[in-house]
Amino acid sequence: MLFVTSRYLSPQFKKLLSPSNPLLKFSISTISTTTTNHVGPPPIRVDITESAGRGVFATRRIEAAELIHTAKPVISHPSLSKIDCVCYLCLKKLKFSNDSQTRVDRFCSEECHQEAKAYYELEKKADWSDYHKYCRNLGLKYPLLVKRLACMVIAGAASADCIHILQPAHIIPKIEVEYSMLRSAIEGLNITKENLNFLSEQWYADVLARVRINAFRIEMVAGSYDDLHALAAASVEAEAGVGNAVYILPSFYNHDCDPNVHIIWIDSVHARLKALRDIEEGEELRICYIDASLDHNARQDILQGGFGFKCSCPRCLSSD
Ligand SMILES: [Zn+2]
Ligand SMILES: [Zn+2]
Repeated sequence: MLFVTSRYLSPQFKKLLSPSNPLLKFSISTISTTTTNHVGPPPIRVDITESAGRGVFATRRIEAAELIHTAKPVISHPSLSKIDCVCYLCLKKLKFSNDSQTRVDRFCSEECHQEAKAYYELEKKADWSDYHKYCRNLGLKYPLLVKRLACMVIAGAASADCIHILQPAHIIPKIEVEYSMLRSAIEGLNITKENLNFLSEQWYADVLARVRINAFRIEMVAGSYDDLHALAAASVEAEAGVGNAVYILPSFYNHDCDPNVHIIWIDSVHARLKALRDIEEGEELRICYIDASLDHNARQDILQGGFGFKCSCPRCLSSD
């Protein structure tokens, strides 16, 4: 999500800035411009910032409340408490009815079912009871995203290094136990050895390190709103997290305790990035990684502990 302490340009970062980078193309191609005033590509570019590594910048003036772009996640997974009531893929609330034909298993739609079918079938066959129990007891949510990615890779739906372009957390706690649980759940599936080559303890640690600081907790906005302007202005009433997801482009936004961009989820994991105020051409776009209503000390503690940096945004510098 951020890149604070070093300005070292990794080979991956150079690749990121290359116009031929397929990941960036993928992200951009998922963007839709639905406002009536602006058509064409989203008004942003990813570039190097003065102090925080890469960041996202406006390529033209952006008006308050403008939908800057939307983004689809690379990996998503429901919270364990919501696993039976939201879509396996897009985390949309499932509608239950007496007519079981209206619901395609754990999916909200045939579209989601088709998109995730290959790894869903695989994931469904394995026994995750130990792994889930372990996560539930320790309150861990990120291993679920690693599990999902492992299944996607085995099913050929993602590459093993698809999120390696994102920055990793510096410290990763011990993972031996969860890794061996994941490994034995997957080994019960009769996958060829060749297809499991990627699944080393090092791969697990690398993915978890990136998931830890890049995953977004998905909180849907209650109800549905047509007027996005009103939505951004309102203090948003959010349902407790329905799941977690990792995105590429939204992860390049740096943090600010008084952000100019807001990331919201209306009814599914598809994110919308909206301007909170007028933004000038060339200005950096920033989102708030945490609850912006917290006081100065609480924000600093969470940002340091969870993301590994000391925030020096204008609001923090003024001790607000
Ligand atoms: Zn869905
Ligand atoms: Zn700050």
